[in-house]
Amino acid sequence: MKLHKLFICAMLGFGSLNTASVWAQDGDQILDGIGETGLIARYVFDGDAKDWSRNNLHGKSESKLNFINDDLFGKVLSLTPDNKTFVAIPGEAFAGEESLSISGWIYLRSVQRNQHFFDFGKNAKSHFFVVPAGINNDAGFHSEIITGSGGKYKTDSPILEANKWNHVAIVIDIPSQSLNAYVNGVLVSTTKNVNLKLEQLFDSNAGKNNMLYIGKSFLSEGSYLNAKLHDFRLYRVPLNEKQIGKIYHNSLKEEGEEEEETEEAVGDLPKFSKTTPQLYNQYLTSVSDVKIETVVGSLPRLPRYVKGVYRNGIEGPEVRVIWPAPTDNNSVLNAGQYTVIGSVAGTDLKPKAVVTVKVAKESATPELKLKAFHLDEVSLDSDLHGHNTKFIENRNKFIKNLAKTNPDSFLYMFRNAFGQKQPEGADALGVWDTQDTKLRGHATGHYLTAIAQAYASTGYDKELHANFANKMEYMVNTLYQLAQMSGQPQTAGGTYVSDPTAVPKGPGKADYDSDLSNEGIRTDYWNWGKGFISAYPPDQFIMLEKGATYGGQKIQIWAPYYTLHKILAGLMDIYEVSGNKKALETAKGMGDWVHARMKQLPNETLISMWNRYIAGEFGGMNEAMARLYRITNEHRYLEVAQLFDNIKVFYGDAKHSHGLAKNVDTFRGLHANQHIPQIMGALEMYQDSNAPDYYRIADNFWYKTTNDYMYSIGGVAGASNPANAECFISQPATIYENGFSAGGQNETCATYNMLKLTSNLFLYEQRGELMDYYERGLYNDILASVAENTAANTYHIPLRPGSIKQFGNAKMNGFTCCNGTALESNTKFQNSIYFKSIDNQVLYVNLYVPSTLKWTERNVTIVQKTDFPNEDHTLLTIKGEGKFDVNVRVPNWATKGFFVKINGKEEKVKAVPGSYLTLSRKWKDGDTIELRMPFQFHLDPVMDQQNIASLFYGPILLAAQESEPLKEWRKVTLDAKDISKSINGDPEKLQFVIDGVIFKPFYNTYGRHSVYLDVTLK
Ligand SMILES: [Zn+2]
Repeated sequence: MKLHKLFICAMLGFGSLNTASVWAQDGDQILDGIGETGLIARYVFDGDAKDWSRNNLHGKSESKLNFINDDLFGKVLSLTPDNKTFVAIPGEAFAGEESLSISGWIYLRSVQRNQHFFDFGKNAKSHFFVVPAGINNDAGFHSEIITGSGGKYKTDSPILEANKWNHVAIVIDIPSQSLNAYVNGVLVSTTKNVNLKLEQLFDSNAGKNNMLYIGKSFLSEGSYLNAKLHDFRLYRVPLNEKQIGKIYHNSLKEEGEEEEETEEAVGDLPKFSKTTPQLYNQYLTSVSDVKIETVVGSLPRLPRYVKGVYRNGIEGPEVRVIWPAPTDNNSVLNAGQYTVIGSVAGTDLKPKAVVTVKVAKESATPELKLKAFHLDEVSLDSDLHGHNTKFIENRNKFIKNLAKTNPDSFLYMFRNAFGQKQPEGADALGVWDTQDTKLRGHATGHYLTAIAQAYASTGYDKELHANFANKMEYMVNTLYQLAQMSGQPQTAGGTYVSDPTAVPKGPGKADYDSDLSNEGIRTDYWNWGKGFISAYPPDQFIMLEKGATYGGQKIQIWAPYYTLHKILAGLMDIYEVSGNKKALETAKGMGDWVHARMKQLPNETLISMWNRYIAGEFGGMNEAMARLYRITNEHRYLEVAQLFDNIKVFYGDAKHSHGLAKNVDTFRGLHANQHIPQIMGALEMYQDSNAPDYYRIADNFWYKTTNDYMYSIGGVAGASNPANAECFISQPATIYENGFSAGGQNETCATYNMLKLTSNLFLYEQRGELMDYYERGLYNDILASVAENTAANTYHIPLRPGSIKQFGNAKMNGFTCCNGTALESNTKFQNSIYFKSIDNQVLYVNLYVPSTLKWTERNVTIVQKTDFPNEDHTLLTIKGEGKFDVNVRVPNWATKGFFVKINGKEEKVKAVPGSYLTLSRKWKDGDTIELRMPFQFHLDPVMDQQNIASLFYGPILLAAQESEPLKEWRKVTLDAKDISKSINGDPEKLQFVIDGVIFKPFYNTYGRHSVYLDVTLK
């Protein structure tokens, strides 16, 4: 999801007499070349102390703050000792951060000592402060860190000049163990060997114990600042000189000056020679050429792995080949033959792909063959020892908290929008659902889905089951009631507007606006058109049509259709698990509202809307509307679904020249989670419309993301180029070069969506690689994204050396996008373990998870008992009888064999890793199927830097347990012929040791970790 932020890109020049600053929003997630995920908070101080980042860390002041006009920056904050004013930031701001950078403009009016620019810390013994003119008898511009354990670190440079603006930046770089001070973009002082962890300065468990003051020390009364302040920022990443220089220079830019998009400096990760073959490639002597056919217009799907020949008796894996990735289909516009030359990282090998382009019809796209079981047909069981599995543990954390939630919190902003009184005890949610956040209501959508899934999954506990049933009913009744009020007279005989296309401007307003403040929000629901439901008035939808961009001003919007998608999906989920007709009626009413408005829009308007950054982000609206069509069989919903086509990505251009439909990679560099749901929508529309291009779009996208953009845990976003950790890398198959953003990797909601896309594709095509990916992402990303003892969960999961996961939203009271999808992931673990064919003749066993399946149509129960992944076998017992196929998954990692016993007797089978094995017979009550698939250690290298690799044991990613952040990748040396010779440990505990370092499953890793290692083979 994309976030809320206001950008000042343009300022009036020096010496201008005009005192008004000029605001411009470029609707970008990248501020001064630094991805938004690196930003903790930003206080522009142009009239208030609000945090303009997405994090809602608004500043507070005990007395009224004074804002004055300034020649350079427009309105700025003015602090004077006489007024005794300062700004306090919420103490949670620094909870759990690793490094810290502070940047801000200061206009000192006096060089008196003891003035504090800021003072941050947990107490007098442990804090971090800056004194621009010195302290006591120590003159100079100092930043100083004092720790409770006696550590003291300081930067020392000349007093900051008074009566002029200076840009100051202080960086605590923990991995580099340095403290750096910059003035006006230039490094003025550095201190090395800073042996510090931020936990020493800040209480990371109870954020409110931290005191974070701007303009005063929290220790002394005589420390008030006499200065003007502007654009104060907190970053969680250690900024380097180039980035700081850019912040400084961009602030002083003339209006309209182009801001060049430079690459985020990749936090100085080690660089390796491009001509040194690494890992198995050092033993590689040749790589096979390949021959591929395609049809005119469609790029060929080139194999990412090709057979290689190794010397020295090494049994290397298939070789990763990096092929050129054209941005159009010019090379295949005519029949004939052409050759594509690939490369192999670190070598000068040039494998060839000879491509034959034929004049022929594209091959037919598959039909829907499988169905998922209902959530209440599959239950998760404990393991062989009666212990909860990781799945049950994580599910229970969520179910427990969800059961305790107050639905009124999730209805708060809906009632607020409709001008209704809040019931007693109702508290608003925080983060992206606060009063003035334009995405409010998004958490409610996730919540509706989560309680529906929780209801369907808690057949094992009557009390919980009833709890969620009540919650669903209460939520739906309230939303239905509000929706019924839209476009209807407030009192009998009153005026109203029921036509969604005729919604007038708010009462007394000159125009539509996105003002959601208590004072500014319109609540005239009788004018909103029939069926309207949202946690804000209709203005954001209307403004989007009229060209509004994303941003924080009242004339700007966030992403109205993104929020709406969640709400509609949640309502339909409730309808499908409980048959609640009001849920469906509410979804239909809003579907009609959207249909009425959108069908009147010309194509150009639609293209403009969906290509407008963030403002036009619509989640899976196409999916939701196509699903509404499938449920209701009312064609107008399918019509609306198709109006959400992302033409550029799907078809290249309005003429449908190429795009994903023709296997062209049109999504490089784009925001990952903005686009994955659109692809799911394409697949959903394929089901309902049968247009084959929709299938190709989804299938081609899946192949490309999982091969060219995927990290070892299964996540797909984390770009340093473009400088936005939520984006796909700028060029496919360049993860090392462009994909280790300091701002993080693997936005968790993107993986949630990738898994959903994957299992949906599998319902059409039962390819082993699909569920291999599903298993990887499920165990190593989704299961790894939840805190040890609470339901707190990750946004990004950083994969740089010595990283640590940050978990948020333990109390379910403030949701980001990923906190929202976590509610969904953790309440439906059982949904992809088994699938059935539509005709109920075939059962697919996809995952080896202890569970019980009730196959209702066949009156058969399948019980799966296993300790997997703590053991490499599983036992399926069939209760009931009948003739059907059991298709069991032979994982791609099962290269040491796959053994099957039926009723204790070994079966002769030909099991191919990465496929499904069919066991066909007339099953009798009590029949057993025993599957054994020995685990082995294997490496998963980064495609463009083979020595940087993750270690797996079977399906499980093993992370090195680290004690501190690292500047370099952890180095390990492994036996070239058999890496297991270098690894000791206990497979049943999944705990191993290499060179004295402990490795554990990533899903059991809560401290610092190295997921990627720098591997040498010997
Ligand atoms: Zn997210």
